Order: sequence, then structure tokens, then C-alpha cells
Amino acid sequence: MSGQYFLEQVATVKILTQVTKVCTECYSDINVGDKIYYDMQNYRYICSNCSEGIFKEIEKKIETIEEGSLFA
Ligand SMILES: [Zn+2]
Repeated sequence: MSGQYFLEQVATVKILTQVTKVCTECYSDINVGDKIYYDMQNYRYICSNCSEGIFKEIEKKIETIEEGSLFA
């Protein structure tokens, strides 16, 4: 499921120099070789910690929507 939202990548020099050197969510440093996640909903890179937190939020939203539709 998480694959629909986040693309798991390993930070490369190219990403760090051309896109971002920090997680766009918590602003912690990203180093070459770190596991990072491309947020396909917001077109940004985030660290693995943040991807977990955000994915939990998304899951919660999906559950709420599904529950809501049952009673619609
Ligand atoms: Zn982060």
C-alpha cells in the first residue's frame, strides 16, 4: 500500500545537490546512502521517520473515508 504514496530511494549525490539536502518535513540532514522516500502526493523527499508518520496519517484518513461511506 505504501508504494502508492512513497517511492523508496537511496539518497544519491545527484538528489542532494539538485533536489534537497534535508527532509522537507522535519528538516533533518540527508546524507548519501540514506534511505529516503519520495512523497508522490506532494512531490518532495522525506526521511524514513517522517514517511512512517505520514503514512499512518494517510491510513487513518483512508479508514475514516471507508467507514464514512458505509453509512452514507
Ligand atoms: Zn523527516
